[in-house]
Amino acid sequence: MIDGVHLAQRACWHRPTNQIIGLCREHSEPFNLAMDDMDSVLKIVEAVHGDSPTCHYGREATVLAIGPYRETHYHGVPIGQTQTCKSEKGPGFAALLKMTLEEWKTHGEPHSGPILTVSFDGDPVFRDGAFDVLMIRTPDKSSSLSLKLSGCQGLNLECGEDDIVIGPDGKHIVKRASIS
Ligand SMILES: [Zn+2]
Repeated sequence: MIDGVHLAQRACWHRPTNQIIGLCREHSEPFNLAMDDMDSVLKIVEAVHGDSPTCHYGREATVLAIGPYRETHYHGVPIGQTQTCKSEKGPGFAALLKMTLEEWKTHGEPHSGPILTVSFDGDPVFRDGAFDVLMIRTPDKSSSLSLKLSGCQGLNLECGEDDIVIGPDGKHIVKRASIS
C-alpha cells in the first residue's frame, strides 16, 4: 500500500545514522548528507536556500506499507518512507517501486511471503510509474493467477514480475465513477 503524507518542510539531523534527513529524493543524491564536515552542510544550505535552488525540502512523504491478505489483523505496517518535492514523474516513481519490490523479495518474502498486489490512490505519478512496473507481461497460462482470472472476459490480465498486479482502490474507483 502506497500513499503520500503531507510534511512540515524542514531538515533534521538523524542521530542514529548521523545524516541530514528531510530533503527531497529527486535532488538530494549528489550531496553528502552525512554530518561529517561543515563544507558539505554549507553546500546543502546553498542548494536549498540559494538564489537558484537545486535541492528542496520534502513536501510529501511517500509511505510504503505492507499488510497480509486475511480477515483479521490485516493492518498495514510501514516498511519505508521517502520525501518528495513533487517534481518526480512516472519513471522516477517506477524506479522506487521496482527497488522496493526487489528488496522485499530478498529480505521480506522469505519470512512473510510474496507481494501479491500493489495498491495506491489516484495520484497520477503513482499510476504512471506503476504501469511501467506492473503492466509489463501476461502471466504464464499455467500460473495460479492466470487460472483464476483467464475466464474473466474483457479483464486486462497484464501484471508485473512474479505475477504482482495493481490492486484496485475501491474508494477511489467509486469516487471517480460518481464524478463522471
Ligand atoms: Zn527536489
